[in-house]
Amino acid sequence: MQRIAMKTPLVEMDGDEMTRVLWRWIKEILIEPFVELKTEYYDLGLKERDRTDDKITLDSALATKKYGVAVKCATITPNAQRVEEYNLKKMWKSPNGTIRAALDGTVFRAPIMVDGIKPYIPTWKKPIVIARHAYGDIYKAVDGAAGAGKAKLVFTDRNGKEVTEEIFDFSGDGVVCAMHNTDKSIKSFARACFNYALDVKLPLWFSTKDTISKVYDGEFKKIFAEIYENEYKDKFAAAGIEYMYTLIDDVVARIVRSEGGVVWACKNYDGDVMSDMVATAYGSLAMMTSVLVSPDGIYEYEAAHGTVTRHYYKYIKGEETSTNPVATIFAWTGALKKRGELDGIKELSDFVERLEKATLSTIESGKMTGDLAGIFKKEGVTPIKLNSREFLQAIAEKLNA
Ligand code: NAP
Ligand code: MG
Repeated sequence: MQRIAMKTPLVEMDGDEMTRVLWRWIKEILIEPFVELKTEYYDLGLKERDRTDDKITLDSALATKKYGVAVKCATITPNAQRVEEYNLKKMWKSPNGTIRAALDGTVFRAPIMVDGIKPYIPTWKKPIVIARHAYGDIYKAVDGAAGAGKAKLVFTDRNGKEVTEEIFDFSGDGVVCAMHNTDKSIKSFARACFNYALDVKLPLWFSTKDTISKVYDGEFKKIFAEIYENEYKDKFAAAGIEYMYTLIDDVVARIVRSEGGVVWACKNYDGDVMSDMVATAYGSLAMMTSVLVSPDGIYEYEAAHGTVTRHYYKYIKGEETSTNPVATIFAWTGALKKRGELDGIKELSDFVERLEKATLSTIESGKMTGDLAGIFKKEGVTPIKLNSREFLQAIAEKLNA
């Protein structure tokens, strides 16, 4: 069979543990037999990050800027235990954090829906995409313990002029926190959300708590409104989609009653929390895709889950594992689809569509990994639990059929 040729290389970021194993198998069984894969390979496995003093991570982010599209395997973010386990020189930073900082992006998470895995909320018929602002707020906050006394917020401008505001007059022990965001980052968050909504032709809802946080959240609301008015209003009208700003409490209530089919833009913390709720409510963390989109149109695709450590320890002991590769397959199909679109390779886009369909129909026909077998319900179909390799081979059979 003639394999599909590629033009521009895809930036390939390899990773750790069970997902590194799945990575190799997905390429071997589902991609390389069909596509003459052209990638620029970066090994972000923890050993290589340690060997290169984490330079490899930054290099992979720079390559993504150069080529425009990357696919990333899940990676370990080291903690004290990992430093010991891998005998690391240092407790290296989260690779995702490094890549996000370099690309200045927004993270979009969308559930992969299949017939037989019912959302816990029965009205949800279409996907809900969470767009999470990935900069600032409590993730870059300064906080600390307070005792009896006054906590103050001091701002010194470039000319040395100071403005001081009292935060609280403590009569006993307590805590304080100061956080920030920048207009530059909020603007790129807004543009990434508007572009993404146009790309997938879904309405965009943006929520904050500006009734309480009048200045801080008010700034987000104002920036979104201005950018929408000046740059996107006409494009949204032409695409037949709407932009709505409302309070986060209101969106939470609306989302539960909705049938899905919306992009929900969230501030950093809201997105962190709500994406876990949405992923779980759709059935499984292993059925959630994640893409980082930068304001200048750079895309990095990955699965939303981690390296599945517990399964990996079983795997290296030679025990059977049934880790779900679907989100990682969709990271590959997302990246290849974007590459096909940018380079005008129709065969690649068509193949990717067939691969996604084959993956979903394999599950719908009753063949799946252990995490899904327990929650699968479809009339006339009895779920069969396969190990990861058998599951990938079942998909390949459908592709070849
Ligand atoms: P995890 O790898 O997502 O796994 C948590 C649990 O969720 C698993 O033990 C498993 O449950 C279930 N699960 C997740 N993905 C699955 C899949 N594909 N198939 C079947 N079950 C799946 O999270 P973690 O254990 O908290 O973190 C492990 C490592 O991943 C950490 O070192 C962390 O730093 C890293 N991490 C990386 C990323 C990333 O690169 N984007 C994201 C998160 C975490 P059962 O054990 O019950 O089967
Ligand atoms: Mg979270």
